[in-house]
Amino acid sequence: MKDYVPHLGDVAVLEACAQPGCPICRLKNESERKYLVLVLHDYVDAPDLREEFCQAWGYCHAHAWGLSTLERGNLLTVAIMYQDVLERETKPVLERQNAAALTGGGLRRLFGKKEQDAPAGFIPPHTPCPACRLGELVETNAINILLSGLAKQEARMRQTLRASDGLCLAHLQKALLLGKDAAVREYLLSQAKAQLAEILAELKEFARKHDYRFQHEEIGEERRCWQRAITLITGSQNQ
Ligand SMILES: [Zn+2]
Ligand SMILES: [Zn+2]
Repeated sequence: MKDYVPHLGDVAVLEACAQPGCPICRLKNESERKYLVLVLHDYVDAPDLREEFCQAWGYCHAHAWGLSTLERGNLLTVAIMYQDVLERETKPVLERQNAAALTGGGLRRLFGKKEQDAPAGFIPPHTPCPACRLGELVETNAINILLSGLAKQEARMRQTLRASDGLCLAHLQKALLLGKDAAVREYLLSQAKAQLAEILAELKEFARKHDYRFQHEEIGEERRCWQRAITLITGSQNQ
């Protein structure tokens, strides 16, 4: 599982563009979810997975809590996973603690650190959340597929991206950083400006239809305007 990265192709990126929200967020969130489901199935009998999980002190806040919403039947596995971390990592650290260790000099001795690089607390450094790490790889792959399709002037990629909700700002920024082709970067920026104008117009229309004078008018496409605005700023919701 350590080197597990799901395969992504053009089709996956095009399909994600056809769904609501930022397509890169969608692919990232889906891959993280699939990864966690796989972990829940394999964890108990996979020593390398257990080791990786413990070295990271479990998952980050979002992925740790996300575990309980995946498959209710696997809550026993979640319990075993966190028993591993508590016994292998947390318990030894707390047992080495004493009141004196919580003061500056004790902390430095506890971790064998020099004065200048003493940690700010007693939780030792650990590896990043494995689910986040996988998500970042998928995110980079998906952005590269998008950039390559746009660089080759693939009409299908352009049209699908244009018809989509567009990239969130974090993924636009990453695409602009990864993109080597100036014309593609310019295209992505122009798309983002068009997307912003569209959202602002929808927000205005949404507010107008909440005015008592126009409340009889049916709310149309603009009903998702506030979700689109949140997505643009912070990325799609992880469902
Ligand atoms: Zn995104
Ligand atoms: Zn995470």
